[in-house]
Amino acid sequence: MSKLRFDVIQDAFKKKAVTVETPSERPSEYYGSMVFNKDKMRKYLDNNTYQKLIDCIDNGATLDMAVADKVAEGMKTWAMENGVTHITHWFQPLTDTTAEKHDSLISYDGKGGVLETFDGKSLVQQEPDASSFPSGGIRATFEARGYTAWDPTSPVFIQEDTLCIPTVFISYTGETLDYKTPLKKALKAVSDAALPICQMFDPKVSKVYSYLGWEQEYFLVDEDLYAARPDLVLTGRTLMGHASSKNQQLEDHYFGAIPSRVAAFMRDVEIAGLKLGIPIKTRHNEVAPNQFEMAPIYGETNLANDQNQMIMNVMNSVACKHGFVVLFHEKPFDGINGSGKHNNWSLGTDTGTQLLAPGKTAMSNLQFVTFFVNVLAAVQKHNGLIKATIASATNAHRLGANEAPPAIVSAFLGKTMTKVLRQLMKVPSDTVIEIAGKQGHSVGLGDIPEIFVDNTDRNRTSPFAFTGNRFEFRAVGSCANCAGAMTTLNAAVAEQLLSFKASVDKEMAAGKQMSVAIMDILKQIIASIIDVVCFDGNGYTDEWRQEAIRRGLDVETCVPKMFKTFESPSSVKLFTSLGIYSEIEIKARNEIRWETYTKKVQIEARVLGRMATNHIIPAALDYQTKLLDNLKILKETFPDEYKTMAATQINLIRKISTLVGEINEKVDAMIEARKVANVIEDEYEKAMAYYGVAESLFAIRRPIDRLEEIVDNSMWPLPKYREILFIN
Ligand code: ADP
Ligand code: MG
Repeated sequence: MSKLRFDVIQDAFKKKAVTVETPSERPSEYYGSMVFNKDKMRKYLDNNTYQKLIDCIDNGATLDMAVADKVAEGMKTWAMENGVTHITHWFQPLTDTTAEKHDSLISYDGKGGVLETFDGKSLVQQEPDASSFPSGGIRATFEARGYTAWDPTSPVFIQEDTLCIPTVFISYTGETLDYKTPLKKALKAVSDAALPICQMFDPKVSKVYSYLGWEQEYFLVDEDLYAARPDLVLTGRTLMGHASSKNQQLEDHYFGAIPSRVAAFMRDVEIAGLKLGIPIKTRHNEVAPNQFEMAPIYGETNLANDQNQMIMNVMNSVACKHGFVVLFHEKPFDGINGSGKHNNWSLGTDTGTQLLAPGKTAMSNLQFVTFFVNVLAAVQKHNGLIKATIASATNAHRLGANEAPPAIVSAFLGKTMTKVLRQLMKVPSDTVIEIAGKQGHSVGLGDIPEIFVDNTDRNRTSPFAFTGNRFEFRAVGSCANCAGAMTTLNAAVAEQLLSFKASVDKEMAAGKQMSVAIMDILKQIIASIIDVVCFDGNGYTDEWRQEAIRRGLDVETCVPKMFKTFESPSSVKLFTSLGIYSEIEIKARNEIRWETYTKKVQIEARVLGRMATNHIIPAALDYQTKLLDNLKILKETFPDEYKTMAATQINLIRKISTLVGEINEKVDAMIEARKVANVIEDEYEKAMAYYGVAESLFAIRRPIDRLEEIVDNSMWPLPKYREILFIN
């Protein structure tokens, strides 16, 4: 067997689970120990500073520099007690990862000595050189500065020896260059839009929260096997590889016993995550071999999203200790399931009402139905945009691949809610309030709580499914920053709620009672959505695509084209009217999307071309030479019979020539297509040209995978799927 491959398989196979250092305290004692949370604030800040900081966190008050200095001093004391030597502003630029620039806490006193300093100014704002982060042309290179500013609503935390300060990242001219800033704007928009509606039902409500509960799927691959696959190392996915004889068909991995090396990794991640105050709850095997999932309890969306970014970093570093690499790519392996990051999303009030959960009274159910229906209307209006927010070069491989949500955004309601909505359309608006209690069958508002006990009413093929007290947005990619999807969803809902409230106000001004006005408007909305965005059938079928076209839903599958939706009049109106993105920001972000798409495909194309030429073709030719040698010896030894005896060899020799020729020809054509694409200036046109290149990658891998089937196993240079996916 090829030396490298043989060695790495053996090494990977022999690895034992790493012993995890379990803290002596209970999780309840170390939970949040690495976070500067309210407990720490109380301990390390004087009362006045504490109150001012809380006012800033809870009510958005500004933090003056004198107070910031005191906060920084308290943080420094806490951090140094925990062995911290560096601080960083931690932010989320428009890449797939978070960014940090570490500065030592040490100051040099100019007299040969050092001291640890950290003041309010370095807590609140920094000016990193922004020139190497994507900006879509906003930041001309002569103005390279951008600045990061502390987001006090996200707690400061310690990672290893570094105090991390979550910040927003903004260009010097004020445009946002990150995921966090627009998310916070969208969260404020939805909160502001929902509040007056909630107050119609309960005047005591003073704030509405958006909640996110993410479920992170990922693959774990042994680091030695990973290192032997240039495609995994450089692109995060395998660009070639024949399906393993055993795959996920036995369904024996899903919820199966967690392998010991993996279990040790998970324990380690959980300990680190709990210390960071991430309420991790669930861990299990996923459907595909070596695929897993972790999920915390949901929380406020901005914080939950920070925590998702934090845990992805933690997983990467903990994996190193355990001899693994985490694959967050949406489709690392062809032919088996890819990974997503389900975004469970809901709204709730500061009085504890879950706005997407049925209540106990007819009135609270009217509130529930109000929010439920308006969410659906928002998703319908912006279905193309919502899809565009989850589109990427990597997620493209997963969507619509008969395992993941199709590339059509529809909503699953379940039987009961569908029935309730259909009934609501028919009843007179002024009867609603009387219909409470479990006997009331006509409208069913009082019945709603009953149904959710029935958990079987679930649909795994819908990208946006109602699951009893929340919507589960399943199309989000596993490596994506949830903020992209959450910004758009919350913004779309905010816009819809504003328009709904305006309509209700109008009806009430004309003399209608509140519940009647609400019912009248809801009935109109239901009629416009029930047979459009609502779809409970199988989203994987071709008939659904046809039906979706008829319904006017967006069925685009070409990723660069999907991004165009961000610039459509309705999207621009949505984002600019709510102050989430300016027109310049919308344009800039699309430039970045197209550019990123192009670069990702370009890297894949280069890697595939080189692997085909430097790994695969040489291995195939070596094997062909071996066959030819065999043929030669047979001919010398059995001059009369060799033709019959060597029929298989001759056949294989021919096949190899054909496949090698095919690979070579297709790689050449792909290189030519890239040359053409590379000189295109316009980012959209260039991305479109690279879309063509992306399609051609499949055509190159096919003959390679055929070769893997026939070439001598001992001569194959790369770890195979059966090895990467089953050794752990
Ligand atoms: P499943 O895989 O069955 O969908 P999981 O337990 O893996 O469920 O994950 C469900 C996620 O949804 C968890 O993060 C959970 O906290 C979250 N969740 C539950 N209720 C809500 C809610 N009202 N709003 C947002 N997220 C929620
Ligand atoms: Mg789950």
